This record gives sequence, C-alpha cells and structure tokens, in this order.
Amino acid sequence: MLRPIAEGVLIHESEFCQSNAVVVQGLSGVLLVDPGIRGDEMACLARDLSDSGQTVVAGFSTHPHWDHLLWDARFGSVPRYGTARCAAFIRDRLSEPGWEARIAGFLPPDIADEIPLGLLGLITGLPAGTASIPWGGPQVRIIEHQAHATGHAALLIEERGVLVAGDMLSDALMPMLDLNAAEPIENYLVALQLLEGVAGDVDVLVPGHGSVGRAEQVSARFEQDRAYVHALRDARVPSDPRIGPSATFDWLPGVHERQLQHLARGRGRDGATAPE
Ligand SMILES: [Zn+2]
Repeated sequence: MLRPIAEGVLIHESEFCQSNAVVVQGLSGVLLVDPGIRGDEMACLARDLSDSGQTVVAGFSTHPHWDHLLWDARFGSVPRYGTARCAAFIRDRLSEPGWEARIAGFLPPDIADEIPLGLLGLITGLPAGTASIPWGGPQVRIIEHQAHATGHAALLIEERGVLVAGDMLSDALMPMLDLNAAEPIENYLVALQLLEGVAGDVDVLVPGHGSVGRAEQVSARFEQDRAYVHALRDARVPSDPRIGPSATFDWLPGVHERQLQHLARGRGRDGATAPE
C-alpha cells in the first residue's frame, strides 16, 4: 500500500490518526521517515519494500513524540536520525525509570497492545545546524524550528518538490503548540514563516497526519495554520473546520479548548497531553 506522491517519494498511511510514513528512494536503498504506528502496519511496509527490492538505509524522526519514534526490526539496524534536540529529548525520557508505563499512558487504548515499543526512540542526533540528512540519495534538507515539539524538523526534498512537514500543515489536525515552550505562539508563527520561506517551489506537502497537499493547497495550509494560531493568540474563536462539527477526529475540539485554557492561564505547567 505504498503510494507514490512524487518521483522517488512514496507514502504509507497508518490507520491511527491518518499517520504518514514517507519513503524516499536513494541510490542503494530508501530513507524512511516516521515509519508508522502498529506493528502489522510496519511489517506490511517492510514487506512492500522488500518485495520491490528496496532496503532501508536510514531513518529519520521528525520529532520526539511516540507516534514518530517507532521502528520495526525488519527495517534493519540502520542509523535513525533526528535533530540533536529531538534525540536528546527522547534519550532523557528513555533514561527515566518507568518510561514505558509513562509512554503507554499516551497510547490509544484500543491499539496500545499492537504498538511495539521495543525500538522506540533509538535516535542518533545530528549535530545542530546539520543542513541535510547524511545518506546516499537526493538531498533532504533539515528545516529545524521551534513549534509543536522540541527539536521538530521538516524535511525539504528540493529535487522532488516535496516538503515533509512533521506535525504541522495538516488538513486534519489544527496546530498543536508546544505549551512547555516559553513563547509557544510566537514560536509557531516564526516556524510557519520559516517553512513558507523554503516551500516556494514545493508541489507536494506531506503532513505527519492527514492528506497530502498539492499545488495551491500548499499555500492554503499555511494560511489555515496561521489563522488558527492568530485566533489563539487573540483569544478569538477560530473558524476552522478542523475543530468544528466536521472535525476529522472528535477529540480535536477538546485539545483546542485545552490550548485556549492553557494560554489564558498564562504559562501554566500542564502541557497538552493529546495524541501527538
Ligand atoms: Zn507530534
């Protein structure tokens, strides 16, 4: 069920939260970004890749939330990269006693047993400022920024006209701020500006969750995210279908309410605990 979205770039969608794994074809194998959620889905992806004679040569996690940090042994023991901040964040979490139980608390209960945590978060941090992923394939630029999660990075594959957006620019999920940051609103707006600045020639945008955006939808995604963050900033009610009656996921209006309340309280201490 690998679906091509651009020359040499394919996606594999997981059922949970419309999560997109991204496969980038290189010279001697593929780069695998945010591989998937359930064990059987990742096994399916591993099978699809091996059936078509492709091996995984590197991985990348866009940010240190559990649903972007999973791995299946069938992909092989290859370097799994993330930004230095991403890797340090998850390394700290994994060094805490009882981390497994804590992460289990975030998992959707109906599929928790099907999510393999054994290889979660074994990420090699790329030194701060690393411009692109070290691998044998088209250049994949790392666009790190402060929004949504510590060490969050989007990936720009210029030769293919693709932006892999991590957990931003989704048609299904509204912006979920990193409420532990000192300036979550400001950070998010700066990050959108940064990404928009590099996305000028992008034909295809892949969000971590939701549908692929093409051509004019790319700029519409920026507009929609910016409008939502502006509304949060100004404590206005956003007119955003992602949190309205037609929301893709029924828990999103609740997450929106929690973001509003958190920001209204000033900088409280209880970060959002939504699925990430
Ligand atoms: Zn996330």
